[in-house]
Amino acid sequence: MKLYNTLTRSKEEFAPLKDNTARIYTCGPTVYNFAHIGNLRTYLFMDILRRSLTACGFKLYHVMNITDVGHLVSDADEGEDKMVKAAREQRKSPWEIAEFYTRAFMRDIERLNIGKPEVIARATEHIDDMIDFVQKLVERERAYETSDGIYYDIGKFPEYGMLSGIKLDEQQAGARVEVNPEKRHPADFTVWIKAPKEHIMQWESPWGMGYPGWHIECSAMGLKYLGEYFDIHTGGVDHIPIHHENEIAQTCGLFGHPAAKFWLHGEFMLVDGGKMSKSLGNIYTIDDLVERGYDPLDFRYFCLNAHYRQKLNFTFSGLDSAKKSLANLRTAVASHKDGDANPDLDGYMREFYDAVGDDLNIPRALGVLWNMVRGEQKSAAVYNAALEMDKVFGLDLHREPEKQPEDDFTPEERAEIEAMIAARTAAKKAKNYAEADRIRAELASRGIVLTDTKEGTTYARA
Ligand code: AMP
Ligand code: ZN
Repeated sequence: MKLYNTLTRSKEEFAPLKDNTARIYTCGPTVYNFAHIGNLRTYLFMDILRRSLTACGFKLYHVMNITDVGHLVSDADEGEDKMVKAAREQRKSPWEIAEFYTRAFMRDIERLNIGKPEVIARATEHIDDMIDFVQKLVERERAYETSDGIYYDIGKFPEYGMLSGIKLDEQQAGARVEVNPEKRHPADFTVWIKAPKEHIMQWESPWGMGYPGWHIECSAMGLKYLGEYFDIHTGGVDHIPIHHENEIAQTCGLFGHPAAKFWLHGEFMLVDGGKMSKSLGNIYTIDDLVERGYDPLDFRYFCLNAHYRQKLNFTFSGLDSAKKSLANLRTAVASHKDGDANPDLDGYMREFYDAVGDDLNIPRALGVLWNMVRGEQKSAAVYNAALEMDKVFGLDLHREPEKQPEDDFTPEERAEIEAMIAARTAAKKAKNYAEADRIRAELASRGIVLTDTKEGTTYARA
């Protein structure tokens, strides 16, 4: 099996360091809000990695953290703690916020058939491990104390930037760094933050009351569960330039090498060709998709059609196609269930494992599955082989195919009708009933009837 290692910028043969077990650390969610579909794409990538490693015969020992403290609004140590900010805005305690959104995250990953890591570690339950790590950095003079916290001393680590290839002076030139006269280098980052009295989340430490920096959390929890050197560290591409560089700096400070051999990063999801943002109103959750009539696995299929190192542009028409393709795939698989033909499937299986082992090329592996099930000759062996492949895809291919409605609309038609329904709902909200009626009439003239329900408006051919 080959995996692309961001650290060496090359595809490398993967073999576990010990016991045939892949020891993996994944940077988990900051639980201050619902996960959006972009976040979930990154955890789908984590799941595909888990399933592919298993399919290739490796065992798993996988740790993912839950960040419930210390992740400031900017990854580069600026602004407020995201948890504290959310707590204030939602008039809850940070612990309530963490509990609520951790549960929501677990529910999302379950609905997406994302396998649970063997260890899920909450940052707030590992503060001692973090303090320990910071203390060692201070003892080795890799970190120093100022009036507001403990900072990592980047000047002592000339290799900083090995993952992103960004040299420290280049980063400095581009960065918007507020000048803190106590910092030795503008890019020094906090490993421990001294808390003002009114700060809600704080713990005792050798430097007074405070809380950990986000980057130290992952280094400390990775060390605790996986030891000084493990196989794979994963996250999203946004982690490369700051979070993972800082993690590497911290571990190199104690052990002289990065924590993991392989560093894998999932590319971003875009929406309608651009960034997801609150102001554009294009941040979707799994609940949003379910409310619009999609199954979470439709979204999973949508994501599986792009390689994890490619950007993926989300659109509802793309999701419609994915929904249809998944239904067709299930139908094709089911058609083989009781077949008695006896085709030779070795070639397909070989191509499938080649694709999976080629840096998790799932789109290619899906192509192999499609070629296999497309055949006219029906064979129970094909059915079983498809389910074997589905251990990697996780698409519940054994499920009964959903009946496609007879008045099937094309994705373009659906997009247009849904846009008109949204305009009608907006018109009603603005008490512009004439406009709302006009839209209903226009759709009716095309043979489409609307039904208003508590959950929203549905449509069908008259
Ligand atoms: P956070 O909860 O903000 O720490 O993010 C959780 C995970 O989602 C991280 O691994 C990020 O790299 C990832 N992520 C954030 N935005 C996107 C996006 N648009 N597409 C894919 N992954 C993302
Ligand atoms: Zn992390």
